[in-house]
Amino acid sequence: MGATDTAEQQVAAAMAGSADSTFSMELSQDQLDIRDWVHGFAESVVRPAASEWDEREETPWPVIQEAAKIGLYGFEGLAQFWADPSGLTLPIVNEELFWGDAGIGMSIFGTSLAVAAIFGNGSPDQLAEWVPQCFGTPEDPKVASFCSSEPDAGSDVSAIRTVAKYDEATDEWVINGQKAWATNGGIADVHVVIASVDRELGSRGHAAFVIPPGTKGCEQGAKVKKHGIRASHTADVHLDDCRIPGSCLLGGKEKLDERIARVREGKKSKGQAAMRTFELSRPTVGAQALGIARAAYEYSLDYAKERQQFGKPIIENQAIAFTLADMAVEIEAARMLVWHASWMGRAGKDFDSAQGSMSKLKAGEVAVWVTERAIQILGGNGYTREFPVERMARDAKIYTIFEGTSEIQRLVISRAISGVHVR
Ligand SMILES: Cc1cc2nc3c(=O)[nH]c(=O)nc-3n(C[C@H](O)[C@H](O)[C@H](O)COP(=O)(O)OP(=O)(O)OC[C@H]3O[C@@H](n4cnc5c(N)ncnc54)[C@H](O)[C@@H]3O)c2cc1C
Repeated sequence: MGATDTAEQQVAAAMAGSADSTFSMELSQDQLDIRDWVHGFAESVVRPAASEWDEREETPWPVIQEAAKIGLYGFEGLAQFWADPSGLTLPIVNEELFWGDAGIGMSIFGTSLAVAAIFGNGSPDQLAEWVPQCFGTPEDPKVASFCSSEPDAGSDVSAIRTVAKYDEATDEWVINGQKAWATNGGIADVHVVIASVDRELGSRGHAAFVIPPGTKGCEQGAKVKKHGIRASHTADVHLDDCRIPGSCLLGGKEKLDERIARVREGKKSKGQAAMRTFELSRPTVGAQALGIARAAYEYSLDYAKERQQFGKPIIENQAIAFTLADMAVEIEAARMLVWHASWMGRAGKDFDSAQGSMSKLKAGEVAVWVTERAIQILGGNGYTREFPVERMARDAKIYTIFEGTSEIQRLVISRAISGVHVR
């Protein structure tokens, strides 16, 4: 179609199916293949193991190893998913895997939060050195941990008390503090820790550090017993005079000194270490929530067609059928936000209305709502551990809490759309 065509000609061409539009919502063959491949793994390996590892509340190393063997867990896999210029492959992979089970999904994808921090803050040399170590090898897989939260610094990242001091004589950083709620904390080979290099500057004085495997002074604290995603390990991490080489500061000292100097002069810094990591990962986290929601929706849809009461399948009641219709609509709407934000992130677009936060907020809340409805549709069975929607509801709840609570997402969105420093 030429630029000079009349509106009538353009409409006629479009109706004849000959419009050469570059816009398409259709997934590519590559994306479809990857989706089906991950779905196959989720269906045949993850889902059958879900209940067992939820009850054991332990990291499912054999499942992680299976994922590593097929290339789903590892640097190459992640790089391949990330390389897709549309940005959709990563959320598609996450949705399918978490459709299988969120606890196991998190034990497989928890590492990627630390990897995202290295990507967001590190130099190319640091990426090459540390990212492969985050995953280990298929024969001997490892996990990584991203440690930002502390007992008194959850939503309020600026309250981080962990400090990093530079020892010029030895070119080492000495880190002291306590991290809380760290996914894979203490069992990880590589820990990425957010610490303050200048307490006076709040979050603008933060930097991200890699704690290499086996570093003295980096120890696991209490392991947390949780409501959901119980196959994923969560624990405190203690950092006591933890000495790491100068090269473990992500981005390097020169860049940090320049940034701190800019902040001290009152100039704008490009953004804080922890916030950059969250921006990169929020749509992907939303996709995980979507996977749980879809799993619960599909299960309850099948159940509603099978379960008979008053002489007919319960889906023949509008109360049930309309609920399922709403569940389907909410999931579709959340997926569109997730895909849009993922595309924006990959295309380097500014999240001018906090679309990353929007996608995570919506998907997290949809997952909680849908799984709760799924329990209702299953009635008494939904409330038991004999049926998976009970576990899905417990798993879904974390998606309104971690990576920024729903309230914090609303804070970020309201500030972005209004320009007002809403509190
Ligand atoms: C299973 C699990 C895994 C986790 N994994 C990691 C990890 O790998 N790495 C990591 O660094 N952290 C991790 N976290 C920590 C998680 O990110 C925090 O729990 C989360 O940011 C909330 O912090 P908080 O728990 O201290 O709650 P608080 O910040 O104390 O919030 C409590 C309540 O107050 C509300 N609130 C707080 N401030 C405001 C405000 N300004 N306006 C309105 N409401 C507000 C919150 O929304 C929330 O409802 C994990 C947590 C869990 C439970």
